[in-house]
Amino acid sequence: MKKHNFSAGPCILPQEVLKKASDAVVNFNGIDLSLIEISHRSKEFVEVMENARNLVKELLNVPEGYSVLFLQGGASLEFLMTPYNLLKVDGKAGYLDTGTWSSKAIKEAKLLGEVDVIASSKEDNFNHIPKNYTVPTDVDYIHFTSNNTIFGTQFKEFPKTDSLLVCDMSSDIFSRQIDVSKFDLIYAGAQKNMGPAGTTLVIVKDEILGKTGRTIPAMLDYKVHISKDSMFNTPPVFPVYVSMLTLEWLKNLGGIAAIEKINNEKAALLYAEIDRNPLFNGFAAKEDRSLMNVTFTLANEAHKETFDKLWNDAGISGIKGHRSIGGYRASIYNAMPIESIQVLINTMQQFEKQVS
Ligand code: PMP
Repeated sequence: MKKHNFSAGPCILPQEVLKKASDAVVNFNGIDLSLIEISHRSKEFVEVMENARNLVKELLNVPEGYSVLFLQGGASLEFLMTPYNLLKVDGKAGYLDTGTWSSKAIKEAKLLGEVDVIASSKEDNFNHIPKNYTVPTDVDYIHFTSNNTIFGTQFKEFPKTDSLLVCDMSSDIFSRQIDVSKFDLIYAGAQKNMGPAGTTLVIVKDEILGKTGRTIPAMLDYKVHISKDSMFNTPPVFPVYVSMLTLEWLKNLGGIAAIEKINNEKAALLYAEIDRNPLFNGFAAKEDRSLMNVTFTLANEAHKETFDKLWNDAGISGIKGHRSIGGYRASIYNAMPIESIQVLINTMQQFEKQVS
């Protein structure tokens, strides 16, 4: 039997997607060639790219005037591509600092210009989302991270601004309904709710590009990638294909409205146990709790060995917390079945019985 995979990313993908993906590696669509040994310019792969792009548009209801790209370099390269494409020479950008990934985005933006850190929860080890901050009006764009994968916090309301709005949605894209028209640039590494590591989804409003006065290296220029339909250079064919399969899976399940309901139920079950069970403490502020990454610690570290043995024996994998907060992190992305969450909850209750 397969393990209950709570890994933060790369992470669980739907079982049927893994099966189809492995078949395609041997013989893609019955053409007697592997998906990964055909040209990216072949009719077969061009169709994959188009399908993947159209599924993103359909699932997220992407309005006219936006381009959907599948790039490489991970979300980390978008930390740099964002200022390259949007920060004017002599301009300024506003960043919300809500975790390790936001901080890394800030560091890259500072290479190209002035950064105004609008608000930060760093002093509280990023255990909450800052509120009541003043959004500056003299910036080229505002950047934030919708879900903080490491700390388990998530924006429930998005910043309101008249400047351009940019969001790193790496760890919660496709998990809840969003209004894309409120954003100017969204990016997300594939390896949570979309597919294997190796491609990055970018959704960008066309009219915002080409206005910085910068010379942008071709590989970092969104306009170049748009003009070549994400095929300026050889695209990551396998990650794009598996992303397409995952998005098809999501569509068949009823789309984002349907998965959002399931995600709410899954998270509610697990947080209820954390709050009920005296042996655990939730890490994130309750109102900012992530529906994707559930972070918690032991009330008494002396019981660590007992709990670790129990979840290991239950076939649970990947719940060790990130080193910056310790404890545990159960990542419960779209493909995580409710049955696996129940196994974790049962283990937490068994632990309570054993220790009390
Ligand atoms: N942003 C967020 C919110 C992430 O969770 C991650 C990776 N876990 C990154 C950025 C960095 O992504 P990558 O490794 O694809 O560069």
